[in-house]
Amino acid sequence: MTNYSKEIDEYLQQLFPITRSIMGEGNRKTLKILQEIVPLEILEYPTGKDVYTWTIPKEWKIKEAWIKNSNGEKIIDMLECNLHVINYAQSINKKMSFSELKEHLHYLEKLPDAIPYRTSYYNANWGFCVSYNQYQELFKEGEEYEVYIDSKFIDGSLSIGELLIEGKSKKEYLISCYLCHPSMANDSLSGVLTAAFLAKELLAKQDQLEHSYRIVFIPETIGAVAYLATHEETMKKVKNGLVLTTCGGPGQLGYKQSLDKENSINAMIEEVFTENGIEFITYPFDIFGSDERQYSSQGFKINCVTISKDKYYEYDYYHTSLDNLDFVKGKYINETLNLYVQLIEKMDKNISYKSLYPNGEVMLSKYDLYPKTGGALLPNSNISALSIILWLLYYCDGTIDLYEISNKLQVDMQLLYNEAVILEEKLILEKN
Ligand code: ZN
Repeated sequence: MTNYSKEIDEYLQQLFPITRSIMGEGNRKTLKILQEIVPLEILEYPTGKDVYTWTIPKEWKIKEAWIKNSNGEKIIDMLECNLHVINYAQSINKKMSFSELKEHLHYLEKLPDAIPYRTSYYNANWGFCVSYNQYQELFKEGEEYEVYIDSKFIDGSLSIGELLIEGKSKKEYLISCYLCHPSMANDSLSGVLTAAFLAKELLAKQDQLEHSYRIVFIPETIGAVAYLATHEETMKKVKNGLVLTTCGGPGQLGYKQSLDKENSINAMIEEVFTENGIEFITYPFDIFGSDERQYSSQGFKINCVTISKDKYYEYDYYHTSLDNLDFVKGKYINETLNLYVQLIEKMDKNISYKSLYPNGEVMLSKYDLYPKTGGALLPNSNISALSIILWLLYYCDGTIDLYEISNKLQVDMQLLYNEAVILEEKLILEKN
């Protein structure tokens, strides 16, 4: 078990206050901080670039946003919380009545202390988000308010952080997280920090990795679309994906299934939970959610899963100012991180091999593979090395992977992997 809890807490403190969006300085600043953890390459997609049916929009630059009452007192100020202003809000500088302003105020009656999070990326709009308590205390019928938003829309670029960790095989797994949310911790910072520390773990053991890992830090939706559009061939070959989000709350662990629930990644996650004695919630695949929506689209059909700890849509503080550092802790993120590490250990060894000698049985003694004393069982198992070798040679025709064989034989995949590596070294099996 790795323990990054303390470091994660420190990065949460550092990253939480930054005003992020789908594009802009806040995202670049976030990526720069993440580069302290792992060496990310930064890709920039300019405003106006077409990516499939989407176009990279202009960058939103927000300087100030506040509301003053008739006494000239600032009653709402985004300096206190960047969720107060709608993300991508247009400029406004106007005195107006409460009834006019009211149409542009957003609040949540059921959660009176929480400031909701609202965006308007593709519709020209302006507005403020306030807690229901603020709404009741600070705004009155008949009063006049001064409303000020100083924002600009400029030609800029959409920034993506990318890291490819190459293993022995060029076959890739995708790890994706989104960094477009301003000050909220479970959605999306928990995913961002899990991805960063997962990348750090993978880099540390790169020489042992069987597969390659493509890790991307993107703005949700438009970033995934842009990345797919510019890495189409590579992405069409990705074996499986992990979409990291909402994994740092105090609540129950669970996972969202991939598009094909029979895909082995689903069973592997369940094994990891079971091996850790964790009772988990299963969320079936649906077309709502995060960037698996893009990766699962017809052209790509990547089976992606998400481990959640207080999943988006499900927890009360979702998309509000209460999704903060009182709610999310480094130790929760670290717990999820360790589950992902264990999942990847399984995914990484799940290789499809092909026999180079499919005709007749291989003469094992010629390769020094026939045990001197027959029948000895491998430690902690009810199978011998000889049986595993014979089954591997029987099954490995390039169409079946080690995980499937382990299920057929009811044998731990690690044991199969150990023997397969020997057969590969002796040039009897090759990776398919
Ligand atoms: Zn969100």
